[in-house]
Amino acid sequence: MPRKAVTPRPAASGRDQQMEQLVSSFFQLIGEDGSREGLVETPARVRMAVEEVFSGYRQDPKKILKTFTKDVCKEMVILKNCEFYSTCEHHLFPFFGHISVAYLPNRRIVGISKLARLVDCFARRLQIQERMTAQIADAIMDVLDARGVYVMCEATHFCMTSRGIRKQDASMVTTAIRGAFEKSESLRLEFLAAVTGNISVK
Ligand code: ZN
Repeated sequence: MPRKAVTPRPAASGRDQQMEQLVSSFFQLIGEDGSREGLVETPARVRMAVEEVFSGYRQDPKKILKTFTKDVCKEMVILKNCEFYSTCEHHLFPFFGHISVAYLPNRRIVGISKLARLVDCFARRLQIQERMTAQIADAIMDVLDARGVYVMCEATHFCMTSRGIRKQDASMVTTAIRGAFEKSESLRLEFLAAVTGNISVK
């Protein structure tokens, strides 16, 4: 069934109006007619999209990572292939891809969905991929007091595929390695085997 077009919410505050005004000014600057049918509601839509895409500024990583001290295991815990969507702070273009996160528990563990929320908390801001990868690792080390963290992120950057050097198939991979993972090659290999290979649990 075709989805019904949703009418955007009207601006509720001075801040909302300012945001919509910015979008209207942008139309003028690029030579568009903001009063034509297709664009009339766009400033309100952009404002609502911006609220969602940059919602990470309103989140606190410490509050997201609710930890448990019961049933703590010693072995590696992995969130594999978690998709994310972020915005490059140099061009305001999207970059997106997948992140895998592993940690070695110490005295605390965390719900796996909380790790995914942590990824979004840092992704939904103006970012560079290197910093986002490091921030996720450091937050887990800090809040969980983990023995080690390994974060690997692979992303496609619109600022590279759609403009500039225009490389369609290139992706960027960044890693952040902390604690016991820095010292142990076997731990790093265990992580890499888990996130790059197919693990079958039978
Ligand atoms: Zn960029």
